[in-house]
Amino acid sequence: MSLAVPLTAGAPSIAQGRGPRVVVVGAGAFGGWTALMLRRAGAQVTLVDTWGPGNTRSSSGGETRVLRGTYGDRAIYTRMAARAMRLWTEHDAASGRQFFQRIGALWIFGRDDAFGTASLEPMRASGLPVEWFDPAEASRRWPQISFTGVSRVLWEPEAGYALARRACEHVVATLVAEGGRYLQARVPAVRIEPDTLTQVTLDTGESLAADAFVFACGPWMGTMFPDVIGSRIRPTRQESFYFGTPAGETRWTAPQMPVWLDYRAHLFYGIPDNAHRGFKVADDTQGPPFDPTGGDRSPSADSVSAARTLLRERFPALADAPLLGSEVCQYEVTSDSHFLIDRHPGAANVWLVGGGSGHGYKMGPALGEYVSTLLLQGGDPDPVFRLAHR
Ligand SMILES: Cc1cc2nc3c(=O)[nH]c(=O)nc-3n(C[C@H](O)[C@H](O)[C@H](O)COP(=O)(O)OP(=O)(O)OC[C@H]3O[C@@H](n4cnc5c(N)ncnc54)[C@H](O)[C@@H]3O)c2cc1C
Repeated sequence: MSLAVPLTAGAPSIAQGRGPRVVVVGAGAFGGWTALMLRRAGAQVTLVDTWGPGNTRSSSGGETRVLRGTYGDRAIYTRMAARAMRLWTEHDAASGRQFFQRIGALWIFGRDDAFGTASLEPMRASGLPVEWFDPAEASRRWPQISFTGVSRVLWEPEAGYALARRACEHVVATLVAEGGRYLQARVPAVRIEPDTLTQVTLDTGESLAADAFVFACGPWMGTMFPDVIGSRIRPTRQESFYFGTPAGETRWTAPQMPVWLDYRAHLFYGIPDNAHRGFKVADDTQGPPFDPTGGDRSPSADSVSAARTLLRERFPALADAPLLGSEVCQYEVTSDSHFLIDRHPGAANVWLVGGGSGHGYKMGPALGEYVSTLLLQGGDPDPVFRLAHR
């Protein structure tokens, strides 16, 4: 099935009657949205999570995540992001909340702006506006940023950020309000019978029988399916920092300050204001292996120092800003940073959904719609998402 089909189709309507029973394990951005979209397409859905939607151990558990359509020549993700942004907007309108903050994103390129150039055509094809500025124009518009050493900047006005952990909670609340079931429990192991899975047993002792299962266990996918996934999805340690801005200054918050992504040897990025927690700075470089259950989440001195170097270069007025807080999270990376969306090779009624690889959060609604369509209507995922591709 081509990705273009479900991602350009209208949102599935709530079907009456009794559809197939589906158990979704994992209530992060991938599992939560998949459960909601399955429910809206008529399935009887039970969603299960060990520690709760957007819990601090999960990859979706941070305060904020960037939403952008800029993906170089990986047009499939630009299309998915464009669809996701529309669905985020609809979700906000229906709920009267604002989980998607559309404040724009600024890509700041050092010498090499090929990634920006390659992004243009897919973005225009998906209806996402985009604009180049030279450093002089950018300095006039964003005087609080230093554009020293910058070739060009790419402005994506429709981009922004999502309130990550809070949206996960709200998606689950919406699922329950629309007739789905949510259980806080762990699925300790999965026993595939020849060619199928008929039930999972929770650590509470309850068994959940279903026609189909979706496992969206984020960084735990490898331990949940050691033989089939194993190290094809690896958790890596990632750190984000929150720096304090001077009292009364509005130039560090939206609308004066957009989401920014500094594209040089390392990709640093940040989100201004960030729900009043401070000026967020994070390094997108994949960190060392990390245990998402028991790993130490104290920040490292080296990473604080690297973030401060970035501040000094790009936001000189914040060079000595106090560090207010930090988050240690994990990416769940695949070798090529493509997502994993596929059937279990030993059971066609089991779907494996993960490998967000540091860019999955924004996709939640569109990915959920995509998985729901495949599961309920049949068809194969795009080859880049297949297990065989990993
Ligand atoms: C620091 C950081 C910054 C990021 N920045 C961005 C960004 O700017 N933009 C973006 O789009 N993406 C970003 N990402 C990536 C994105 O957050 C992840 O790809 C996405 O949240 C993954 O969602 P998930 O549902 O697959 O996994 P998770 O959110 O980890 O959810 C998995 C859930 O499964 C549950 N679970 C696991 N095992 C079991 C079990 N056996 N039984 C029951 N429940 C179980 C867990 O409790 C968890 O809640 C970032 C990630 C990090 C860490």
